[in-house]
Amino acid sequence: MKNISKDNIRLEDILDTAPIAVAWSSVTSGRIEHINKAFSALFGYVLQDLPDLNTWFSDAFSDASYYQQVVEPWIQNNQARQQDSVSMDGISARMLRNDGTIRKINLCVSTLGEKRLWYFNDITEHWIAERRLRARSKMLEMVAKSSALKDILNVIVTQIQQESPLSLCSVLLFDPVEQCLRLGAAPDFPDFYNQAIDGVKIGLNVGSCGTAAYLNKRVIVEDIATHPYWQDYTQLAAEAGLAACWSDPIVSSKGDLLGTFAIYKRLPSSPTQKEIELIDFASNLASIAIESYRAQEALQKRAYYDHLTGLANRGYFFQHCDALLKQSRVEGFPLAIIMMDVDHFKVVNDKYGHKIGDFVLQKLAQVSVSVLKHTDVIARIGGEEFAILLPFTDNNSALKSAEQLREVIASSVVLSSNHEQVRFTVSLGVAFRQNGECTVDEILNKADKALYQAKAAGRNCVFSMGLMT
Ligand code: GH3
Ligand code: MG
Ligand code: MG
Repeated sequence: MKNISKDNIRLEDILDTAPIAVAWSSVTSGRIEHINKAFSALFGYVLQDLPDLNTWFSDAFSDASYYQQVVEPWIQNNQARQQDSVSMDGISARMLRNDGTIRKINLCVSTLGEKRLWYFNDITEHWIAERRLRARSKMLEMVAKSSALKDILNVIVTQIQQESPLSLCSVLLFDPVEQCLRLGAAPDFPDFYNQAIDGVKIGLNVGSCGTAAYLNKRVIVEDIATHPYWQDYTQLAAEAGLAACWSDPIVSSKGDLLGTFAIYKRLPSSPTQKEIELIDFASNLASIAIESYRAQEALQKRAYYDHLTGLANRGYFFQHCDALLKQSRVEGFPLAIIMMDVDHFKVVNDKYGHKIGDFVLQKLAQVSVSVLKHTDVIARIGGEEFAILLPFTDNNSALKSAEQLREVIASSVVLSSNHEQVRFTVSLGVAFRQNGECTVDEILNKADKALYQAKAAGRNCVFSMGLMT
């Protein structure tokens, strides 16, 4: 350290002890004449690195349009002020350090004779805390409003990308049935990359995320090009311009794996302590979002689905029917409804027991779904009664579907507790939307009548209002 004499203390020496970054420039030439120690620590420059003030400023403010529209007029306004004035109203802006990272700065200026003093107050930590709080509130609000999970996760990803510039973030969701990762939110990755990652099975050496999910622990890959975890994906990562990837498993409050959160970098690098904290913050937030979403999904499922067969329930069916019927009237597409009832089901229960009866209903649901179109909606609307809504389906196609259902159900088998083959059949009634106004009740009544006719005709058959197929 320099030895400073007690009676010869220069302004530079005083400023070097200041906790705030200060620079002064010449009012006439704009040349930066001095920067203090706090300035060097904040921006990473020594005086020789810095050109005149305007050139440095136009590079240092990371948001070019904000600089032109807000900062530059503010500077000009201050330069036009009278000399020996101090501007009390500072301005906040994001500024770049020499290593490319961003700091949030509150900038003030004062003019003293030929010197203009610039004060750079680093408010980054406060700014980050505030932004995180805002992101967290926004996310919780979206969770409460049942927004789409992708939109909620995008809020998190965007927040982290803003805090960690020159990085890309992604959230992948764990699919426990397929043991794979599905795209959650990765808004800034190229499509080809997202498509290649979507559905990837978790495991060792499946990139940072597949491995982090598999090991259920954080995986830091500093250089994708040389790391064994990425050996099968180096080409893909290179094409997407990705060089480092740090991934954290997202875990529920019960400890179940929900997905992964990852930060990618364009250059090989390892995370700083701040970036580790950032990953922690993000995966914690993502965990709240995914867990709440899954809980809501389960609740909704309970409200709309039948617990025994997994089919839609009565409430869902009538709601959906109503909406689709209106749509079919407006758009003029054909629509049919099938009512289906298990034949002599009481006998099945009496002979094999209620539990085997339940298996029959489950089997029936499963085979029915396998022959129906994905636009058809099948619901369990009573004990052993089912209704099927077939939009975009004309008379002939609906009768064909009903006949197909009858056949596939009649050829299904469930094993009794004594390993006997339990066979079962259904009767079906079909009704269509006629031209003109008609309500859900009217069509269902017609389908019910047709079903009654099928029962009366001996069961295991399809009827359509007096017309047997
Ligand atoms: P039909 O051919 O005339 O329809 O005769 P059925 O025996 O099927 O008709 P019925 O209405 O007399 O009996 C329906 C039976 O379905 C009685 C009831 O115990 C049974 N059932 C209703 N819900 C369930 C269920 O969830 N599980 C089981 N195992 N049985 C059920
Ligand atoms: Mg029955
Ligand atoms: Mg019945």
